Amino acid sequence: MSEHRLIQRIELLGNEEEDFREYVSELLEFNKLDGDEVLGIAKQIVSKGVESLSGKQLYVFAKHGIYDHLYVEECKDCLLEIPWSEMLQAAENYRNHLYCQHKNEKDE
Ligand SMILES: [Zn+2]
Repeated sequence: MSEHRLIQRIELLGNEEEDFREYVSELLEFNKLDGDEVLGIAKQIVSKGVESLSGKQLYVFAKHGIYDHLYVEECKDCLLEIPWSEMLQAAENYRNHLYCQHKNEKDE
């Protein structure tokens, strides 16, 4: 797990971009981000999209904004990528998928 893989994932969002922007707007809404630079970049992602960022902005946001306290690369149970739509919950609670978490709760 490294911030370089996170940056790659953000660069290659494709049809996940909508979910990523939603995630960033949640981070803003719940005051999860620190620092003027990171906050400015987050607002730009929400309003203009990832493709509007320079390489340096993307790096600053990944490294100082969300890596790694607000980012979980893979589910600790099934090792699949955590979708952006579940990222905040995964980062703050279980570090796994909602699906796997529910399964774990049932098994207990
Ligand atoms: Zn899982």
